[in-house]
Amino acid sequence: MKKIICGKLYDGISDKLQENMEILIDKKNIISVGKNIESLHDTEIIDLSHLTVAPGMIDAHVHAAFFDWREIDKDDIYYTNSMRTLAVAECARKTLAGGFTTIRHIGWFREDNSLDVKRAIEKGFIEGSRMVVAPHFLCTPGSHGDSTQKLGVNPMLSNFLEGQLPTMGSGADFFRNAVRKEVKHGTDFIKIMATGGFFTPNDSPEDKQLSDDELQAIIDTANSLHTTVTAHAYTSELITTLVKMGIHGIEHASMIDEETARLMEQYNVYLVPTFCPYDEIIMLDEEKLAQKPEAFQKKLKYYRQRLVKGRKTIINSKLKLGYGTDLVTGYNNYECGREYSAWLRNGVNPFRALKAATATNAEILGLKDVGTIQPGKLADISGWPRDLLTDHMALLDCGFVMKEGKVYNAVSYAD
Ligand SMILES: [Zn+2]
Repeated sequence: MKKIICGKLYDGISDKLQENMEILIDKKNIISVGKNIESLHDTEIIDLSHLTVAPGMIDAHVHAAFFDWREIDKDDIYYTNSMRTLAVAECARKTLAGGFTTIRHIGWFREDNSLDVKRAIEKGFIEGSRMVVAPHFLCTPGSHGDSTQKLGVNPMLSNFLEGQLPTMGSGADFFRNAVRKEVKHGTDFIKIMATGGFFTPNDSPEDKQLSDDELQAIIDTANSLHTTVTAHAYTSELITTLVKMGIHGIEHASMIDEETARLMEQYNVYLVPTFCPYDEIIMLDEEKLAQKPEAFQKKLKYYRQRLVKGRKTIINSKLKLGYGTDLVTGYNNYECGREYSAWLRNGVNPFRALKAATATNAEILGLKDVGTIQPGKLADISGWPRDLLTDHMALLDCGFVMKEGKVYNAVSYAD
């Protein structure tokens, strides 16, 4: 048995930091939480009285398939599937060291064998965060999920490279089949590219990139197979359509209006708002903005007012918010604490952010055994030296990490 002595405790349930708390762990599970817990003489004492202890954090929007954001341009031609697989494993190792015991890998343009990495971690062959995985984006040619769009001036090459994207196609039947195959191969959920994006050069965040019959085919097929669907989506119009079709979640929603936010609340559709990728334009951080590709910067500048308004709508809403970083430029994919910094700097109550990164994310990911510190839950526990309530860099500076009762090396990614 192990007993953790907490400096302060955030348990993922109540909006407070509790003093003088202890956590008793037997093998993989928490068996008791409280003050002055009795334990056997051979219980290992883990003294974290210098840290704020919290559930292992969860990042619901990670693209794990690259080693360094400066390498992303190489993905089309110079990265092999095995290179991406190694990157996924390395990312999961680093996110765990950073105190994020679970990550949701939300697809990539090409094969990265992320389901294999997930299985290798589950079996204990390699160390890493627990992974919830959708290996591929479901998308159409030329869409935000089609990175060969930037090679469109060379149709022969871009068409040839399309063959690397197994879930890209057109037509309701294609997508019914794609959902069935993803489920067959073990996907945990389905990720679709419903609108265009900022990161891809030749489309617009306002583009609708899947037709109504394709969207309905995806959602109905996934529902019939008890699999959830989440959509990359920006515009209120399309989010409204998706909510009424029965979608489970939305990623980004960065230009959402009030009416659509109310609709999502009413239908209990979750939102992972991913503040990080748009933060530089909203907070006008010129230095970070300049690190993004030119087309990305141009689009962000063009849509700035709508992004500012959308963010206010999200922050002032009662939406069920998940926590996800979506880091593809400027910062590395394993720096999961970046999103906490963005939420706090944008004036979000820290307890709302902590709840999103723990209990709410566990619910979104369909994981019943993690997200809170309670008897019966898996012993996924993180510890933080900085003040979680006032220091926006706090979740980049991990001081302790335990996953399923086992202690791992903790690392700081604070600058
Ligand atoms: Zn993303």
